[in-house]
Amino acid sequence: MDSIEYDVLVVGSGAGALTAAITAHDNGGAVLVIEKSDMYGGTSATSGGGIWIPCNHLMAEHGETDSPEAALEYLKACVGDKVSDSRLKSYVQNAPKMLKDMEDNSDVKFVSTPYADYLTEKPGSKDGWRTLDPLPISATRLGKEFLNMRPPHPQTIFGGFTITVNEAKKIITRSKGWKWIMAKLMISYRLDIPMRLKSKRHRRLCLGNALVGRCLTSVFKRDIPIWRSTSLKSLVEKNGKVTGAIVNKNGEDILITTKRGVILAAGGFEHNSDMRNANLPGPTDTNWSATPGQNTGDAHIAAQAVGANLTLMDAAWWGPSVRLPRDDRSRILFAERALPGIYIVNENGKRYLNEAASYDEVGRQLQAHPKTSWVIFDRRAREKYGIGPLYPTAVHPDSKWNNSIKAIVKKSDTIEGLASLMGVDETGLKDTVKKVAKYSETGVDEDFGSGSTSYDKYYGDPSVTPNPCLAPLLKAPFYAFPVYPGDIGTKGGVDVDINAQALNKNGRPILGLYATGNTASSVMGYTYPGAGSTIGPAMTFGYVAAKHAMGANS
Ligand code: FAD
Repeated sequence: MDSIEYDVLVVGSGAGALTAAITAHDNGGAVLVIEKSDMYGGTSATSGGGIWIPCNHLMAEHGETDSPEAALEYLKACVGDKVSDSRLKSYVQNAPKMLKDMEDNSDVKFVSTPYADYLTEKPGSKDGWRTLDPLPISATRLGKEFLNMRPPHPQTIFGGFTITVNEAKKIITRSKGWKWIMAKLMISYRLDIPMRLKSKRHRRLCLGNALVGRCLTSVFKRDIPIWRSTSLKSLVEKNGKVTGAIVNKNGEDILITTKRGVILAAGGFEHNSDMRNANLPGPTDTNWSATPGQNTGDAHIAAQAVGANLTLMDAAWWGPSVRLPRDDRSRILFAERALPGIYIVNENGKRYLNEAASYDEVGRQLQAHPKTSWVIFDRRAREKYGIGPLYPTAVHPDSKWNNSIKAIVKKSDTIEGLASLMGVDETGLKDTVKKVAKYSETGVDEDFGSGSTSYDKYYGDPSVTPNPCLAPLLKAPFYAFPVYPGDIGTKGGVDVDINAQALNKNGRPILGLYATGNTASSVMGYTYPGAGSTIGPAMTFGYVAAKHAMGANS
């Protein structure tokens, strides 16, 4: 078997992996990145690209402040005792450092957004500015490599073009200026003739494509090699220390020896049915995941084989998901549940949750409910908002539905008819319609408090009063589609310490082995404190791992 030596081997090419590679390189390391698929970027490239960084330096531009004490108080209130205080502290201390370092020394740049923390009722929360949106970047800066980067998730592309988080909020909630934003982007997309001749992809990269695109240009400038179509097979361990890995490149096994460490950033196990069935609460299904198919827990298995302890394996980043038969993955209902006139009901036709809560919270409640739930809405909501796979009627009339949409969306002129098509209890559904009419008038959802927190209101419709999240189900036709407890990745994995070093069953570090992103047990425990709680820690602990491996204090 051929063998080659590096200081650091990084497994995976999501945002956490590339941050680790850049940091290890900038601290003097010779680094190799390997990526199992033929495309860079993993789920990170297909994501919203938002990162949750408390005390970030960018919020000052908006006159906002934060403190490590408040951030830690909030994290502790959310996470409880599932994660050690020292690890939470490590996150609060290192996340802003990672951000500043990346902004100062690489092409990775962000803007702070008014996206509220997800659990604003907890002490230490903030009504915005801890979530950062990557600045758009032109695909031209990636040259030929652009087409080797994983494209955005289909649900983040609007008629071909992509948008930033701030633009998305305006468009989703129909806030002032949304039509102008749409028109400008559509025109610039259509008029980019050279690109239109080559690809459907938008040259203006936003969200996860902007984040990974920016990481990639930084990696290429440093001449850090990334081997695509190269998979981690197993780790090599000598006397309790990991000294390298066997990888398979285009069918050939190669031994990579490492002087400083192996950093595992190979995502979760959401596409491994056996691991899902063994660990996640049921029912569970790989088809409900919104991530691309490569994350099959390979690094979890390799780490376990050298003694790593795996924890939090029953947890995922949940989200209500809908799957069109023609799609290769699910779509997550990230925001539209908060809009007025859109509700979720169970087999009895009854609501059982606050639809406007975070997607993780709603996903978790769907998960705890073993029978199929449904999203329901009326013509008014259908005309005005994008809902799941449906764009508003003006751009996507019912007459233009393809077979994939027809296969899942039910439509009827009466509530009775809709109940029958859904197979839910008619009396229960009528009762729900009566209740939401009353709550919409008073502005108070007496059952589940929808629209009562600043997070709920963030994606509500500001033009609807008294509650931007509530409207009656009044106008026929009425619609419904089934919704499942999906995920945007699993969050259980290698137990790690404050330096992202893998721990064994006795809580001792396994020298030479690190884990970050969804390969590591999440620093967020069972909760989702704010938008960007998965990629923020992935990048932060990738940074921490690389510094530790290179012997540089973070
Ligand atoms: P990934 O980014 O998936 O990277 C793992 C990589 O490892 C993959 O490229 C994979 O091919 C590779 N790999 C797997 N096995 C091997 C192997 N054996 N050898 C070599 N390589 C391997 N999170 C946020 O924080 N903010 C958001 O805005 C956000 N928006 C989202 C929007 C959508 C539509 C989705 C689907 C997810 C979103 N998420 C978001 C979740 C987030 O994208 C993921 O949780 C995160 O990107 C996971 O990062 P990772 O580095 O662990 O894995």
